[in-house]
Amino acid sequence: MDADMVEIFPGQPFAFSCGPAVSCFNHCCRDLNQFLTPYDILRVKQGLSLSSGEFLSRYASVHDGPETGLPVVSFRTRAPDGHLCPFVTELGCRVYEDRPSSCRSYPLMRLASRNRETGRITERFFLLKEPHCRGFESSRIQTAGQWIAGQGLAVYNEMNDRILELISLKKRCRPGPLDMAARHRFTMALYDLDGFRKQIFEPILAGDDRFDPGLRQAAKSDDVELLKLAVEWVKEELFQAQY
Ligand code: SF4
Ligand code: SF4
Repeated sequence: MDADMVEIFPGQPFAFSCGPAVSCFNHCCRDLNQFLTPYDILRVKQGLSLSSGEFLSRYASVHDGPETGLPVVSFRTRAPDGHLCPFVTELGCRVYEDRPSSCRSYPLMRLASRNRETGRITERFFLLKEPHCRGFESSRIQTAGQWIAGQGLAVYNEMNDRILELISLKKRCRPGPLDMAARHRFTMALYDLDGFRKQIFEPILAGDDRFDPGLRQAAKSDDVELLKLAVEWVKEELFQAQY
């Protein structure tokens, strides 16, 4: 049986729950095909007390997205069948408090689009019903909006929407794959935040006054502010000509 995807509105209820009691517990973490956003990586590496460089070299792989031409980061999956999440254990998710947005959101999928003129984000939600997922047999009812709030997704969506803006900017001004230098700078700034922090505050860039001084100051010690600065830096460095 194929997966079924239906649109659902924020106030609309659906029955679902997931946890150790379901017969398929961990199933979806053993058949992974998952992309990570920059904010996903920030959270997981913080939760594991790793630097972003350590996280990337141990747990991630990078390839170029065929549609956007941008680097895409995903979990480096494990044997035996090559689709196992590096953080799944018999007891559940080892990084549960900081699990990525797609793990939180499932079985709900959020489709966001950004109006180019106003910058306004429009979101639509879909419920993905996959035959292996027994969570839909639950009698626990919640609305889509309650699910999003309960999974702590607000901050993920807010940070991920900043990347959405970069992707649409890239599509407009640099279609096709990035050259090696641009690819390196894009990946370093957004995914290797600790590496980016070293560079941005090194003498060579320390006098760079293009960005809000308050944001620069906050970014010295706060990873979330640093990621916001990284997004602005990528806009300027790679897509500046299109402003
Ligand atoms: S991060 Fe956690 S919830 Fe997400 S796939 Fe891995 S084990 Fe599962
Ligand atoms: S398949 Fe569905 S119910 Fe089973 S663990 Fe995954 S999300 Fe939960």
